[in-house]
Amino acid sequence: MPTASKRIPAVVRPLVSERAAKTLDLVEKFVNEECLPADPVYHAQLGEGPGRWDYPPIMDDLKAKARALGLWNMFLAKGHYKEGAGFTNLEYGLMCEQLGRSRVASEAMNNSAPDTGNMEVLAKYGSEALKKRWLEPLLNGEIRSCYVMTEPGVASSDATNVSLSIKRDGDSYVLNGQKWWISGAGDPRCKVYVIIGKTNPNHPDKYKQQSIIVVPTDTPGIEVKRMLSVYGYDDAPHGHAHIIFRDVRVPAENIVLGEGRGFEVMQGRMGPGRIHHAMRSIGAAEEALNWLLKRANDEKKKPFGKLLSQQGVILQWIAKSRIEVDAARLIVLNAAAAIDSGDAKTALMEIAQAKILVPTMALTVIDRAVQTYGAEGVCQDTPLAYMWAQVRTVRIADGPDEAHLEQLGRRENKRAKEASDLIQKQSEITDALMRKWGAKEVGPCPRL
Ligand SMILES: Cc1cc2nc3c(=O)[nH]c(=O)nc-3n(C[C@H](O)[C@H](O)[C@H](O)COP(=O)(O)OP(=O)(O)OC[C@H]3O[C@@H](n4cnc5c(N)ncnc54)[C@H](O)[C@@H]3O)c2cc1C
Repeated sequence: MPTASKRIPAVVRPLVSERAAKTLDLVEKFVNEECLPADPVYHAQLGEGPGRWDYPPIMDDLKAKARALGLWNMFLAKGHYKEGAGFTNLEYGLMCEQLGRSRVASEAMNNSAPDTGNMEVLAKYGSEALKKRWLEPLLNGEIRSCYVMTEPGVASSDATNVSLSIKRDGDSYVLNGQKWWISGAGDPRCKVYVIIGKTNPNHPDKYKQQSIIVVPTDTPGIEVKRMLSVYGYDDAPHGHAHIIFRDVRVPAENIVLGEGRGFEVMQGRMGPGRIHHAMRSIGAAEEALNWLLKRANDEKKKPFGKLLSQQGVILQWIAKSRIEVDAARLIVLNAAAAIDSGDAKTALMEIAQAKILVPTMALTVIDRAVQTYGAEGVCQDTPLAYMWAQVRTVRIADGPDEAHLEQLGRRENKRAKEASDLIQKQSEITDALMRKWGAKEVGPCPRL
C-alpha cells in the first residue's frame, strides 16, 4: 500500500507542505510499528488489580521514541500558536487519522484530548503566569489536565445551563457545585482543571454569565466522588469522573481572559478539537476496515465452503465502507481547510457537518467489521468492541448530534426564500420559453 502522504486526497494535496507530508509518513510508520503493537501491552500493564489507575510504563517509552523522532505537539496550528510544530489544521487532521487507529498513539505524541484543547486555551488566552505554571509542563507531556464543563443536574449540551458557582471573594474566587463526565480525572498525572462556571448568573446576556478558571487538582475542597463507565469500560487510567467542588478557593488571577468571557474562550477551543476527533474517528473506521478485510479473507474460517469475501454481501460491505470512509474524510478535510483559511467561527457549518457525519459513518463501518467476526467481534479478542464504544460517545460528547443538526438545519433553512425565489424565477422563464416555442407540457410535469 502507498504511504499515507501518497494517499492524501488529490483535492487537498496542494494544501499539504512537503514537511507535513514527510511527518505524516513518519506518524503512520510510528503508529504501525510502535503504537498498534503496544496497544495490547498497554492494556496488559493496566491489569485488573489495584494498580489499574496507575500509569502504564510503556507510555514513557513510546513518548521518548516519539519525541526523538520530532513527533510531538503537532496540534497547535500554524499561524495561531508559536508553541506548536507549525502545521495547518488540515495537515494535522491528516495526522490525526493515523493517531485514531491506535489507543496509545495520541498520548505517545502528546496530542491527546483534553490536553490539546486546554493547551490551546492557555496558549491563546492564558496570562504569562498561567502559561509558565501549566502550559509548559503540558507541552512537555509531564502532567495532564481536564476540561470541566458538564454537570449532572442540567442539560449541558446547552452550556448556558451550567451552574457551578464561581464567586469573587477578595483576591480569590470560590467555586461550589458538581461536574461529571470529566475525562482524564482518574489519571494520577492530572494536575490541573480548566473549569467553566458562572461568575455573573444575573447578567442580562446569557452568554456573558460564564467564565473559565484554572484550578490545580490538589486544591482543598475537591472530591472525586466516583468514576463513570462507558458501556462498561472504565477507560483507565484516565476515566471519566463525577467531581464535587466545595468552597474551592483559587487566586483571582486564575480566571482566563476575564469575567464573563467563558463562551468566547470555549468557542475558540471547540472548533479545531471537533476536527481532530472526527479525523481520529476516520482512523478508527480505517482500522476497522483493516480488521474486516483480515476476517473476510481468513482461509481457516469459511462458512458454507466460501471465504466471506466471496459472499456478495460482504464484498458490498467492503465497497460501501471504502466509499463512506473516503467521502467522510473529504468532509472533515474541507472543514479543516475552512478553518485554515479563516477561523473556527467562519467555518461553523463545515465543522458541524464533519462533527455530525463522521461518528455515524465510523460506527457503521465498525459494526460491519464486528459482524464479520461473529461472536468474536463483540468480545475482547479484537479491538472492535472497545472501538465501537469509544466512537459511540463522539455522537454525544462535545455536543450531541441533535444540537448540531438543529443549528445546521436552522442555518440552511435561512436559504428557503432564496431557493423558492430562484425556482419561481426559473418557472417564469420556462413559461416565457413555452410561449415563444408554442410548446405544450406533455406527460408528467417537472414543475409543481
Ligand atoms: C465519553 C464521554 C466523555 C466526556 N468528556 C467530557 C469532558 O471531559 N468534560 C466535560 O465537561 N464533558 C464531557 N462529556 C460530556 C459531554 O460533553 C455531554 O454529555 C454533552 O455535551 C451532552 O450533554 P448532556 O449529557 O448533559 O446531555 P443533555 O444536554 O441532557 O442532552 C440529552 C439529549 O438531548 C437531545 N438534545 C440536546 N439538544 C437538542 C436539540 N437542540 N434538539 C434535539 N435534541 C436535543 C440529544 O439527543 C441529547 O443527547 C463527555 C461525555 C462522554 C460520553
